[in-house]
Amino acid sequence: AHSAGPHDHDFSRIFGIETEYGVSVTGTDKPCDAGQVAMMMFQPVISRARSTNTYLANGSRLYLDVGSHPEYATAESRTPMGALAQDAAGERVMAKLALEAQERLRESHGPDAAVHVFKNNVDSSGHTFGCHENYLVRRAVSLKTIERELIPFLVTRPLFTGAGRQTPDGFEITQRADFLDDAVSSATTRSRPMVNTRDEPHADPDKFRRLHVIVGDSNRSQVATWMKLATTHLVLCVIEEHQRTGGISPFACCALADPGEAIRAVSRDVTGRARLRLADDVPVEHERTALDIQRAYLNAAQRFVAAHAQGMDAILPDAAQVLELWEHALEAIAAGNWEELSDWVDWAAKLRLFNAMRRRHPDLDPARLAQMDLEYHDVANGRLFDSLAAHHAMRSLLSPDAVRTAMHEPPVDTRAALRGAFVAKALSTGAQWSCDWTHVTVMLPERADCELLDPFSPEPTDAWRRAMDLLG
Ligand code: ATP
Ligand code: MG
Ligand code: MG
Repeated sequence: AHSAGPHDHDFSRIFGIETEYGVSVTGTDKPCDAGQVAMMMFQPVISRARSTNTYLANGSRLYLDVGSHPEYATAESRTPMGALAQDAAGERVMAKLALEAQERLRESHGPDAAVHVFKNNVDSSGHTFGCHENYLVRRAVSLKTIERELIPFLVTRPLFTGAGRQTPDGFEITQRADFLDDAVSSATTRSRPMVNTRDEPHADPDKFRRLHVIVGDSNRSQVATWMKLATTHLVLCVIEEHQRTGGISPFACCALADPGEAIRAVSRDVTGRARLRLADDVPVEHERTALDIQRAYLNAAQRFVAAHAQGMDAILPDAAQVLELWEHALEAIAAGNWEELSDWVDWAAKLRLFNAMRRRHPDLDPARLAQMDLEYHDVANGRLFDSLAAHHAMRSLLSPDAVRTAMHEPPVDTRAALRGAFVAKALSTGAQWSCDWTHVTVMLPERADCELLDPFSPEPTDAWRRAMDLLG
């Protein structure tokens, strides 16, 4: 049986990833803008759910706001690996919607019309869109603490989590470096735009917060997605533990003077040696490199894992492998060997390809690189990423079967299991229903509302059974 939820000495966590996708059409002269294509993609969703905002039988949320950026938010997972499977399923869901829309589009727009769905964070006109990571954290840790102690990590982790981007001014490690520009001027504290401070825990607000990280890149690499969640999880564990034990934070020496300036410096430097200004109250040093800061976080995570070796299976399965990859990434960058990381770090994979192209074609049209860059992120019609994977130039963690399964099945060890079973039954009986992260509701023949406040619990409740019965 599952406990009602974690207690203070518990490092269990809920993970969720929200990914906004970019869409475009090529291969046709007839006008067709991104908004129209996105609507076409959602036609089957609308006819099934009577809305562009719905939940799927795997417990995830699929929606299209006004505009042209369809979004997929993964069901609650207990592990980074579980969240990765749900996120990969989201790529397949989007690809399927795109390819079906493409079939229909070809009837009106010609046989070459192609629908592209980009899992990246910036479109060709420089407009950015997001990938949000969600982490459940204990309420006792203040948002201010999380921000202060987490931001230097978030600003420097693009060394291995960045998706990379070729710009007219050079190569950027992260697609998110310039994203803070507008936000910064209006914000009172500069770190705020990197995490969303809206307090919407989707759980018992007395016990938990939902930390909403908005500064990360969308990743194509499965290893990068997994490492992004796993390393951030370990850092949050250290912060939560330190909250309990007190004393000087292991990350006090990393506080940055200007996180926005720092992430831009990190983004433009593949050596990891860019010097980042530290906050005035940091003793002794005035500057540290991105690699120095990452090493401080890695060391604290290594100490945490060593101290909790007994319980590590419950905290982070494969922790040893995460630490090893993390350390290797920092060492490779420090030694100038970032190319060694090109089989799992998205920016390194792309920069390696771009450099090879430039060597082969000295007069290469920059537009060709921009096109390759986009193709890498196209989950519907892009071949570049799949071909890297097929040639073992890009590692994967999940079998195609595991991804297919995750398209239909929710994680079994969170409330997503209850939501998923509810949605699957509602769709098969054609009942009128709705849901959100914390509720499932039957509208007809009789209204029944079931609250699912504990994200950790997949245990059926009486209210849930009653709602299921009412579906028919
Ligand atoms: P919006 O994107 O519309 O502004 P939002 O930020 O609440 O709203 P959603 O797109 O609805 O985000 O996605 C919420 C994400 O949070 C999902 O990935 C979900 O799995 C995750 N999540 C749900 N409950 C929790 C929780 N208690 N702790 C951490 N993550 C959670
Ligand atoms: Mg969202
Ligand atoms: Mg969000």
